Amino acid sequence: MRAGSGSWKAIEPVRKTQVREGGQAMWSDTDSCLKCSICVAACPVYRADPEFLGPKALGPDWYRLFQQGDTRPFAHVDDCTFCQLCEAACPAGVPVAHLIALQKSLVKRPFRMRVRDSVLTRPHWVARVPGALGLAPPALGRALGLSASAWRVRRRRRPRFDPLAAAVSARGTVGLFVDCFSRGYDREAVGAARALLEVWGFGVREVPGQSLCCGAAAYASGRPAQAGSMAKQMAAGLARDAQHLQWLVTLNATCDGTLRDEWPRFLDAVPVVPVRAFDDVAAEEAPEAFWRRLRAGAPHPPVALHTTCRGKVARGEGGLSRLAALAGIAAEPLDAACCGAAGSYAFKREHAAIAQKMGRKAGQAMPAGTGGLWVDSGTCAVHLEEMSGVRARHPAVWLWEAWQQAAHGPATLRERE
Ligand code: SF4
Ligand code: SF4
Repeated sequence: MRAGSGSWKAIEPVRKTQVREGGQAMWSDTDSCLKCSICVAACPVYRADPEFLGPKALGPDWYRLFQQGDTRPFAHVDDCTFCQLCEAACPAGVPVAHLIALQKSLVKRPFRMRVRDSVLTRPHWVARVPGALGLAPPALGRALGLSASAWRVRRRRRPRFDPLAAAVSARGTVGLFVDCFSRGYDREAVGAARALLEVWGFGVREVPGQSLCCGAAAYASGRPAQAGSMAKQMAAGLARDAQHLQWLVTLNATCDGTLRDEWPRFLDAVPVVPVRAFDDVAAEEAPEAFWRRLRAGAPHPPVALHTTCRGKVARGEGGLSRLAALAGIAAEPLDAACCGAAGSYAFKREHAAIAQKMGRKAGQAMPAGTGGLWVDSGTCAVHLEEMSGVRARHPAVWLWEAWQQAAHGPATLRERE
C-alpha cells in the first residue's frame, strides 16, 4: 500500500495547481523533506545506474531550487522510470516521483526524440495499428531513438475460446478495461479474462469502445499536461461506454493505479464506475466451485509472480499470491522491485542498457524450477520473458489454461452449482 498516503494529506492542502509542462509550480510548499534518504534506498534505478542522482536530489532538493527560480533540470533526470517506489516509501509524504515528472517536463530534447516521445506517450495510437511497427524498417527505429525491444514486441492474438464461456450473465454486466498494450498486442489476456468473467456468470463489455489512453505513459515521460488531456478524453469515453456497468475490471496494474490514484489527485478525472483489478475480482467473485475444480485438476508446475512496481505502490504485492493460493499453484514472488520495462521506458534507446540490467537482475532472481511467470502488465511480461527466457503471461491466461485443463464441463459454473 502507499506508505506515505497518510502524511500525503499533510501537504495536499498546499497543492497550488495542476502540473503543467514548461514548469508551472505544483505545490506552493513541499519542503517537508526530512532528508532521511529512505527514498534513495527504495529506488531501483539508483541501484542500477551510477549516473542517476536519485530521488532525493532530483525531487525535493531540485524543487527547492526550482521554487527559487532556477528552472534548469538536473542531468539524467529522464532515467527515472516513474515507478513511484520512492514516493510510496517517503515517511513525509513528499510527492517525489511527481516532482521528478515536473522536472522532466523542463528537459530540452532533440527533435527526433520529441517525435518518438509523441508516439510513445500516445500508446493508444500504436494500439490502433500494432502491425505497422513490425513492418517499419529497424533503421527508422534507430534513427528515432527506439530500442531493439520496441521492434521485437509481437502481438499475442486472442485464441479461440471454448464455447463453455458463452455463459448466462446472471450476475450483471461488468466492463473489461482494455488498456492500450492489451488492445494492440495482448488479445490473449483480454480473451482469457473475458472468458473467465463469463464462466463466473458475468456479462462482459470491453471498454472503452475506442482506443483511448489513461495518460500513464505521458505522465511518466514528463508530459503531465498531455496526460491530463488524455485522461479527460478517456473519462469521457468511459462515461459514454461504461456508465451502466457494475465496475471496470483492469488487467494492467499501472493503468489500474492511474485510474484510481492518479486521476483524482493529479489529473482532475474520475472513472465513471468503481475500478477493480482483475486479481481482486477473481479472488472475490469467482465461485468457490471454480477454485475447487482448479485445485482438483492436474498439478501445475510452480510459478513466479511479478507485481508491476505501480501495482506494488497502489495495492501492495499480495494479489497474485492470493490467486495462486486459491488455484492451488505453488508460487513465489520475484525478488525485483522494478523490472525496468516501466511502460515505454525500455523502448527508448537511451534507457535500453539500464532496463536490460534491471531485467536481467530480475531474471536471475527467478526461483529454480519455475514453470512460468505471472505478470500484471503486458510490457513487463514481454521484457521479463526476453530477459529471463521464462514464459511470462497475465494471470488471466494461466487461470484460463488451468480451467480448461480442469473443467470441460457441459455448462457454466453457475449452472453446474
Ligand atoms: S523525500 Fe521523503 S524519503 Fe526522500 S529524503 Fe525527503 S523525507 Fe526522506
Ligand atoms: S520514481 Fe522510481 S525510478 Fe524514479 S526516482 Fe522514484 S524510485 Fe527512482
